[in-house]
Amino acid sequence: MSATSNKPPFYDDYELKVVDPNWLATRVKPKRHIGLDPDLCILCRACEDVCPWDCIYMLSPGIVDQTEGENLETAAKTAEAIFVIDDNECTRCGICVDRCPSDALFYIRVGDQRDKAAANE
Ligand code: SF4
Ligand code: SF4
Repeated sequence: MSATSNKPPFYDDYELKVVDPNWLATRVKPKRHIGLDPDLCILCRACEDVCPWDCIYMLSPGIVDQTEGENLETAAKTAEAIFVIDDNECTRCGICVDRCPSDALFYIRVGDQRDKAAANE
């Protein structure tokens, strides 16, 4: 696929906020979400490429204008990329999880740690 594929353009107007887990747990969508272990991610972008719904975005940290709190600011300044999944579009098909070559993606429930989620599979 060429660089001029039908992928949506990179956005530069994202507003990132910390999501309250209690709010998220009340949503009607399945309570399993796709988690990312940034220490394992090799930035290959295979997940972004393979997602059938184009709902994974790897964004440049340079788009961050303001952050809520020091931790987020440090994270935004030191990150190689900002990994975003549009949770409203994600169908939980798991293709990205299967495709990830470094096991960085996984299913997780709100409030769980990764090991606990894996044990529940
Ligand atoms: S689970 Fe499926 S729909 Fe959701 S981000 Fe991964 S590939 Fe895309
Ligand atoms: S497929 Fe895995 S390693 Fe590659 S960019 Fe996605 S999360 Fe990172």
